[in-house]
Amino acid sequence: MRRAIINAVVLTMNDRMDCLEKGYVRIRDGAITEVASMEGWVPDGEEECTDAAGMWILPGFVNTHTHTPMTLLRGYADDLPLHTWLTEHIFPAEARVMTPEHVRLAARLAFAEMIRTGTTCFNDMYFFSQLIAEEAKKAGLRAVLNDSLIDFPTPAFRTVDEGLALAEELIQAWAGDPLIHPSVCAHSPYTCSKETLLKAKRLADRYGTLLQIHLSETRQEVETVKKQTGLSPGEYLHRIGLLDSRLIAAHGVWLTPAEVQLFADNGAAIGHCPKSNLKLASGIADTASWLEAGVTVGLGTDGTASNNTLDMVEEMRFAALLPKGARYNPVAVSAGNALRMATIEGARALGLGDRTGSLEPGKRADLLLVRSETVNMQPVYDHYSAIVYAMNSGNIIASMAEGEWLMRNRKPVRVDEEEALQEVMERFGVKAGI
Ligand SMILES: [Zn+2]
Repeated sequence: MRRAIINAVVLTMNDRMDCLEKGYVRIRDGAITEVASMEGWVPDGEEECTDAAGMWILPGFVNTHTHTPMTLLRGYADDLPLHTWLTEHIFPAEARVMTPEHVRLAARLAFAEMIRTGTTCFNDMYFFSQLIAEEAKKAGLRAVLNDSLIDFPTPAFRTVDEGLALAEELIQAWAGDPLIHPSVCAHSPYTCSKETLLKAKRLADRYGTLLQIHLSETRQEVETVKKQTGLSPGEYLHRIGLLDSRLIAAHGVWLTPAEVQLFADNGAAIGHCPKSNLKLASGIADTASWLEAGVTVGLGTDGTASNNTLDMVEEMRFAALLPKGARYNPVAVSAGNALRMATIEGARALGLGDRTGSLEPGKRADLLLVRSETVNMQPVYDHYSAIVYAMNSGNIIASMAEGEWLMRNRKPVRVDEEEALQEVMERFGVKAGI
């Protein structure tokens, strides 16, 4: 398919942060072939041409940590201490609710919300990942995912070895797919034994995939891991050989400066989840120090049970504002850096920096059209400031992944959101209960 989007402000998010005040993006068979100023524009009569005057074109958002089927538990047990929330409410509800059929339905609801809020690529850890992959493929979203290995029985597998076999099956089933990128997921160092972590690492190494884990989310986790291993969680992962450029750790709230340095030295990435960390009272991560140390930092919403949205615009705004207030430092994380975390740095954190996250020839066409001429954003003195501090997801008009439209005129094109919404409302929520 041949496409062009013209007359827009193009924020490339490349290494030079190039911005074209009036430019175009040309797309052939899912790839970006040209990003240039309109001065050099030569029409090609055979391509679909979209006039995006009054809009920005920017890379699609990359959500580096989520659990999509948890949309069914949005707001289910709020405002409780983390341990009570998780063990007395979330885990039992998951055991009751998360059938394969419900996981598919939950994923469809999640994907409609993600598309409406600008996500084109997400990193998921849950159960029944084959079904989530199938739904993501139908929706047209780029997905990194696999089942979450954990040392107790789950709705999808009873033992770690069963989980590993399922994970390997998923990796083989989607090999070479342009949108679905299987990974390996180990839940955390306090729910996975050393043996489980090493098995996960060996599987990731065998196929060259990303390895995802929750790490240093709460102070209690740090104490537990220290008691078990004598090391803090980051040091422990390093000691057993997990900390490398194919690892992404979600949260990292309690990482010490020495651990942050280990992440930087070994090229390991962090999926920063500012809203979830606040809602579960886990803490406020010192992201400015991570960036200073040179760690690759992406943004994640976490699951909707602890957020309660999948909205990367909100996540980006929290990522820019929180460190300012927490560290009394207005220059801690700039708007440009927050947008980088939501796009190119997130892509790098997932090992997809050569495919997505910026608008450059050779990359896949994963992008957003955002209306700038709106009452909540004008006047615009600085593009990054307007996007990070003033924009809301309603300003996102259209999006595409792999050169195919995900949303046009604010309507998802490949997910039947009305059907998913009705079904969820009938089966869950105040009226239905769970
Ligand atoms: Zn999580």
